[in-house]
Amino acid sequence: MRTCSVCGSLDTQDPCAICSDQSRDASLICVVEEVGALWAMERAVAFRGRYHVLGGLLSALDGVGPDALKIGPLVHRAEAEAIGEVILALPATVDGQTTAHYLAERLAGAGVSVTMLARGVPVGGELDWLDDGTINQAMRARRPA
Ligand SMILES: [Zn+2]
Repeated sequence: MRTCSVCGSLDTQDPCAICSDQSRDASLICVVEEVGALWAMERAVAFRGRYHVLGGLLSALDGVGPDALKIGPLVHRAEAEAIGEVILALPATVDGQTTAHYLAERLAGAGVSVTMLARGVPVGGELDWLDDGTINQAMRARRPA
């Protein structure tokens, strides 16, 4: 397994199969905490764009700051690629929401619209544990961040 140099996913090739797939919508980036969440989204067939794996969440308690995550590369992608929308598929935990708000601020100058998965669906846990229908519902009902 190798880490994709574009999105941070794990695959046998770099760029990964998702980043290399020309049939996917290159104007959409879905930001996830870790690769398990990416696989859950793929399993649910909820999303046909590309991904960005942060590698964790901001956490004051655990001393995780922006430099420990792949936030700089995400902002760079949003600015350098023809991105229209960045979807934050982060947990509805304190750390998840802190990270989402920080990303929305960092992306504000990149000329992209930033959305979040819908609340009201049980996104409190990890995406990995949600059934496919719930993931699809949360993706369809996403709202501005
Ligand atoms: Zn990739």
